Amino acid sequence: MRVVELTARGAVQLGRRDIPRAEPHSALVAVSRVGLCGSDLELVEGGSPYLLDGRARYPLVPGHEWVGRVVALDGSTRFVPGQRVVGRTMLVCHECEACASGRENECSNLREVGLYDQDGAAAEFIRVPISSLVPVPDGVNDRQAALVEPAVTVLEALTKVPVRPGAKVAVIGPGTLGLLAVKLLLRYPVELVVFGVDPDSLAACRRLGAVRAERFDPQRDSASYDLVFEASGTPAGFEDAQRALKVGAALVGIGVPHGHLDRFDAGRFVLAGHSYFGVRHGMRHYRTALRLFQMGILDESEVLSSAFPLSQAAQAFALLADETRGAPKVSLIPAGRDGAEDDDQN
Ligand SMILES: [Zn+2]
Ligand SMILES: [Zn+2]
Repeated sequence: MRVVELTARGAVQLGRRDIPRAEPHSALVAVSRVGLCGSDLELVEGGSPYLLDGRARYPLVPGHEWVGRVVALDGSTRFVPGQRVVGRTMLVCHECEACASGRENECSNLREVGLYDQDGAAAEFIRVPISSLVPVPDGVNDRQAALVEPAVTVLEALTKVPVRPGAKVAVIGPGTLGLLAVKLLLRYPVELVVFGVDPDSLAACRRLGAVRAERFDPQRDSASYDLVFEASGTPAGFEDAQRALKVGAALVGIGVPHGHLDRFDAGRFVLAGHSYFGVRHGMRHYRTALRLFQMGILDESEVLSSAFPLSQAAQAFALLADETRGAPKVSLIPAGRDGAEDDDQN
């Protein structure tokens, strides 16, 4: 089968590998669509925390935001060949203390698809444990299903804090996570403001219905918000998020910033009674995310950028690295011929 291989820092290649062999309790899935995100770009550029701490090593196959069709099953009747599925990124052991206590996302023997210890979905086929699969309902197309993985992280963020009616809520960073957060938060009785840098992404947020979407202005926007979702995954965005907090406010970190903050006013954090929440993925929310796409509360509008066949993965990553690309989500279509867009399934 054809796969996208990252063979060294900056090297994205089309490779050939054997189709993964049968294993108990696993499924072979033909991949229809794969979304690429900042974590994948970090694997290409070499700055990924998984590469730095040795969990990931080249060569590797990226791709953790995917949808496909079951081809073969080993030891299960839960799914049937031909069924459309998405797969959880986190593969848990079901045996450790955390798993046994119902806190699977804290599993101490974790593997993550396309990140470490499990090849990703930027390939014609992927083999994963059947327990990691979630069926895609009718009415959710492949473009939407490939967005379920970032959506579950946003849903986890929304479980961290009560979103009170009338609250002033800010989302920082209108990338994929930020746009999905905006779409959900627009359903709440709150005043929603978006802060970002790219004019096209900010215009998209205004079209979606945000009251304001513009650059963060410390003079105007400091100490003004009850709840701030940091989705840019940058230290600068995180600093703006801190400044935006009112007394008693909460900051929820969804994006993953690397590096250290230049300033952290610990006294203000304590005296202003701020709460900080980190979001460690949302593996419990896949069915809810699919349901929200089925209901039309989430959709792919304003989110999708171009889609590429596997043979043009290097171009896909180049576009992903371009911060002026507008709509954020770049995708790969493993079954697509060169230059072909995918068919809309269901
Ligand atoms: Zn991702
Ligand atoms: Zn475990």
